[in-house]
Amino acid sequence: MSLRRQNLALALRCIADAKGSVSRADISARTALNKSTSSSLVDELIAAGLVRELGVTTRPAVGRPPTSLALVAEGPAGLGIEVNVDYIAACVVDLGGAVRYQHVVSQDQRGQNPQDVLRRAVNLGGAAVRAVAQSGLAPAGVGIAIPGLVDSAEGRVVLAPNLGWSDLDFAALLGSPDIAIPGGVDVVVDNEANYAALSERELLIEGSSFLYVFGEIGVGAGLVLGGDLHRGRNGWSGEIGHITVERDGPFCGCGGRGCLEQYAGQEAILRAAGAEADAGTSLGVGPTVTMIRERAERGDRAMTGALDRAGRALGLVVASVMNLLDIDRVVLGGIYKELSRQLLPVVREEVAYRYAGSRWALPQIQAAVHGSEAPALGAARSVVRQIIDDPAGWLGSPTGARGPVGLPAPAPSAQPATSNA
Ligand SMILES: [Zn+2]
Repeated sequence: MSLRRQNLALALRCIADAKGSVSRADISARTALNKSTSSSLVDELIAAGLVRELGVTTRPAVGRPPTSLALVAEGPAGLGIEVNVDYIAACVVDLGGAVRYQHVVSQDQRGQNPQDVLRRAVNLGGAAVRAVAQSGLAPAGVGIAIPGLVDSAEGRVVLAPNLGWSDLDFAALLGSPDIAIPGGVDVVVDNEANYAALSERELLIEGSSFLYVFGEIGVGAGLVLGGDLHRGRNGWSGEIGHITVERDGPFCGCGGRGCLEQYAGQEAILRAAGAEADAGTSLGVGPTVTMIRERAERGDRAMTGALDRAGRALGLVVASVMNLLDIDRVVLGGIYKELSRQLLPVVREEVAYRYAGSRWALPQIQAAVHGSEAPALGAARSVVRQIIDDPAGWLGSPTGARGPVGLPAPAPSAQPATSNA
């Protein structure tokens, strides 16, 4: 990357990360770029439609008053789409990562034709894009989250056991004539837990390392090392749900036995409690996680026992991962966020017992900020994060070259919504 390109990214990152107001002089002070360089970088970012001037903040006794800068609230947006076992979701964020639109539709995808499922999901994304267009937002890219092993580079879903999909050429499906990608922009397909990890904006700071565990019907993980998602050789890392808890335990959809998912996945919790085994996820066909939590809070012994068993299995696996990686933070998302009151104490106790370093440095184990909406949100944020990380690269791309989206009047539309199909 050229120096100019790096500096442009540095200046934009400085504006994106600013907690309060930030001026040209602040950028110069924080980046060690000289004043005229930082000022001309800012002019370039304004001309590109990525940064706006908010006006004069304070009037100094002498000299020119500083103008406060911010990311544009209209213009390039990130579209995230999630295909889960029993719901599809779409989310649009602006360049700052703020949610501008969210929509969830409950429908069971099991046994459905993948092309039909994908068409419905992409149509939901199209509706989201139309809803935010009047606010001057246009998608710069699309991220699609899938619950399974995904080869992002090839656009292939290798295995999504809970959807019953394997060896699916997703790129070819996306190219079929009945599937219209909103805005004709680039699409990236990735694992849902990877995207969910990227929704934790406060934790995604330079150099940070954490394990994000996403529980739904399946259990996945996103592993962030040194500020970046660790994908592994094939992009299949993070399949924590298929780590063995018991060698001869229950059979699993992956073909193995005794996997974590068979103890700590939502359906495993329901089965252990003697409840309906095929009930839906938190956003899906039946709001099952609320039922689990309410029964546990009422002191239902079968449910508290099932959650204890799930928490022990989860803690056992998390402690093993801690022993291997020595990282300082674990985040529990998806249904685990909603069940954190029941699960966190058990997981913490198990990790304290089994992690060799726990007497000296117990890892922080916490609930995620976002629940089941995290994958679509993280997918959307991954799109705008790419622009922040390399604005010059985006400006050179076909979407960036279209220039700023010129619809000035912001409309109070785009309210978050959920519905049942
Ligand atoms: Zn398995």
